[in-house]
Amino acid sequence: MYKAILEKASEGKGIDRDEIETLLSADDPKMLNALRETAYSVKKKHFGDKIFTYGFVYFSTFCRNNCSFCYYRRSNPIDRYRKSDDEIVALSCSLQDSGVNLVDLTMGEDRMMHADNCRELVDIVRRVDSAVSIPIMLSPGAVNESSFPLFRDAGADWFACYQETHNRKLFGERRLEQDYDRRFDQRSLARKYGMLAEDGIMVGIGETHADVAESIVQMGKQGCEQIRVMTFVPQEGTPMSSSKQKSREEELKVMAVMRLAHPDRLIPASLDVEGIEGLIPRIRAGANIVTSIVPPHMDLAGVAQKDLDIDSGRRFIDNVIGILEKEGCKAGTNNEYKNLVETLKRRNAA
Ligand code: SF4
Repeated sequence: MYKAILEKASEGKGIDRDEIETLLSADDPKMLNALRETAYSVKKKHFGDKIFTYGFVYFSTFCRNNCSFCYYRRSNPIDRYRKSDDEIVALSCSLQDSGVNLVDLTMGEDRMMHADNCRELVDIVRRVDSAVSIPIMLSPGAVNESSFPLFRDAGADWFACYQETHNRKLFGERRLEQDYDRRFDQRSLARKYGMLAEDGIMVGIGETHADVAESIVQMGKQGCEQIRVMTFVPQEGTPMSSSKQKSREEELKVMAVMRLAHPDRLIPASLDVEGIEGLIPRIRAGANIVTSIVPPHMDLAGVAQKDLDIDSGRRFIDNVIGILEKEGCKAGTNNEYKNLVETLKRRNAA
């Protein structure tokens, strides 16, 4: 049964919800190896040896929300920062110069940035877009519909907004006081206004394999061009600080199943969970993007792990490319990535 599903997936025939759940329920090491190998070969069929790289600018750690898993939740009395416009532009330029294919502008749901129909944020996107020639991803949390065309016109190519789970009850327990549908609709709105959309889920927040299967199906149905999974990392000062972190195997398994269910989507390997040590296992499980590349010594934080491998420079692009090349992968060029983004936008518009 398991083998037959892998064969079907490797032939590009797609897999349904039950088959997704069957793959997720496996825990035999041989089966998991076969799953990852199949996902890696499907990734190669669709994207070859190319891996694209995203630079990360977490420019405001202020947030009005209180997600139970997040270090930056408003109730956590931590030091916070908000970078100035000039600093954000300079950081974006330095990431472009380093060779990444995209700048990811991320923030908590910072009330100041959301005020006045996101006026300040739109201005930042416009300034970054004038300063760099690589695509821009914006991750601002949930915003009103009227902001989407402004982001698009300012130069945002991608809009990222992670549901984390598609189980409404679990969503209510983790993304406290937030509206499931409002968050879900963000990605459809982004696509309606001509941007590409990314969704993501977290493993280790109380979900079942049936929940994960549902998420994988929902992400596909919504049409998100990029889909991700990340392992929940317990954070000091949060209600989930003493929860147990799931093993790396679980994230790799979900990633591999995502690749088989949605062979043509972009799937990131984030450096935010295990740092650089976690890169190659994720590529081998079917990822084709490296995210959360952060320049050292710029006082920037990560999201899941606020300082893992950052100031050592291990999360910087040269180190990442060196590791990818040793694995037989090639870093995609800016032109290749821009062409891919344009192709995806045309597909979305059709
Ligand atoms: S996950 Fe995002 S929205 Fe939730 S508290 Fe953290 S920064 Fe805010």
